[in-house]
Amino acid sequence: LTHHIAVIGGGPAGIEAALAAARAGVRVTLVAEEALGGRANWHSLLPSKVWLAAAAQHQLVPVDPPAVLERIRRTAVRWNTQQAEALQALRVTVLEGRAAFASAHALTVTGSDTQESQLLEADTIIIAGGSVPRFPPELRPDGKRVIAPRFAGKLTTLPTDAVVVGGGATGCEFVYLFNRLGVQVTWVVGPEGVLPGMAPAAGQSLAATLAGRGVDLRMGQVATGIERAEDAVSVVTAGGEQYRAALAFLAIGRRPDLSRLALAAAGLPDTGRLSVDEYLRTSVPTIYAVGDAAGAPMIANRALAQARIAARHASGATVAPFREDTVIHAVYSDPEVAQVGQLIGPGLRNVRIPFATGLKAHLADEAELATGFFELAYDGATMRVAGGLAYGAHAADALAPVAFAIQMGACVDDLAASYAAYPTISELAGLAARKAIG
Ligand SMILES: Cc1cc2nc3c(=O)[nH]c(=O)nc-3n(C[C@H](O)[C@H](O)[C@H](O)COP(=O)(O)OP(=O)(O)OC[C@H]3O[C@@H](n4cnc5c(N)ncnc54)[C@H](O)[C@@H]3O)c2cc1C
Repeated sequence: LTHHIAVIGGGPAGIEAALAAARAGVRVTLVAEEALGGRANWHSLLPSKVWLAAAAQHQLVPVDPPAVLERIRRTAVRWNTQQAEALQALRVTVLEGRAAFASAHALTVTGSDTQESQLLEADTIIIAGGSVPRFPPELRPDGKRVIAPRFAGKLTTLPTDAVVVGGGATGCEFVYLFNRLGVQVTWVVGPEGVLPGMAPAAGQSLAATLAGRGVDLRMGQVATGIERAEDAVSVVTAGGEQYRAALAFLAIGRRPDLSRLALAAAGLPDTGRLSVDEYLRTSVPTIYAVGDAAGAPMIANRALAQARIAARHASGATVAPFREDTVIHAVYSDPEVAQVGQLIGPGLRNVRIPFATGLKAHLADEAELATGFFELAYDGATMRVAGGLAYGAHAADALAPVAFAIQMGACVDDLAASYAAYPTISELAGLAARKAIG
């Protein structure tokens, strides 16, 4: 254990990097300024997923916000304990505190409570400090009537109505959530539309479904300010519109959390973003950046994949480079929306089947039968699998075989020859492949 890797950040990316490096036989120190699990565990991903899980059962068990908050707390503590145990089992040293570069091979770690500093030297440093929300001065949450995703873990009551700003994955999930829980939602979405990072069919289908359920969708509107009254707020748009409700919910983007790292001391550019190569190395080859800290798209499965690659590469273990086209992007609304790889491009062919092609959809509700679809994209010349899009219950799970096929360089024939358990949502990839080869 001569090589020593220091990891900055105790979120999904930092923990995965530490575990992967320790498994590769390297000595690891993880520096975390908050409890293990990171923002994903305590402020964003996990609280939102507990709310969504509660909403899914809403017809059977009406949602009681304080009970949901208690469930968030219990789940986060349990997950935190499990992560701590996994790190401990691999003898990863966890240092509580905030890290900043002293040089390319040293960090100053300042204890959050004690404010005492210590120097931590390492051969390699992996930056996994995550991201923070980005708010223009005129659109700032106050935690009362203007909130952002991180306040979901503190929502003790539900408003009668809400204006949700933002058409990305988080905006979509909260619009679905509020609508499902009986909140009257006005949805302000900019000119880029709903789910701009995904194939147009994904955002259009979800927007149409949510509008059909009573969401007041205001497309092409740029929110420019918020006016506060005693018992309500109004979101003001560039076009002069005003949307009034008891609550405004802002889901308008995030940026890498790099500003406190003193990057210049390590010889890295202090420009608010880091460029990385396919092994997640920055311009200083002994410093890596992974997860949200390495930039968009900011999703946990991508963060985990990057973290493992960086850690193994830094440890001298064999590892394939990071491939953006194997990352599944998912929106956990109902219906769920998910995408992986490339759907459009030179030489690509697409085949689309309804969810109803498989028996599983017939066992779900009628809406599922009518609207769910699965699309497979492949190279018309080589027949290699290139991408997938799914819309319907468990869409993200349906794409797992497609992501794997892309990673393996598999062809449509390979997918066509594999029969998943019957009836399951996993069958859709094989069904689409068999249609593609005729
Ligand atoms: C509302 C919401 C819902 C989401 N839902 C999903 C989802 O369902 N699925 C999905 O895949 N993704 C989801 N995401 C995205 C996901 O949360 C992020 O991609 C993920 O958290 C990235 O992990 P990370 O480890 O890079 O960063 P983080 O989770 O942000 O963790 C980074 C940690 O590092 C710490 N840190 C920062 N700087 C320092 C420093 N200098 N010293 C010490 N510690 C430091 C931070 O305090 C933090 O604890 C969601 C995001 C939001 C906002």
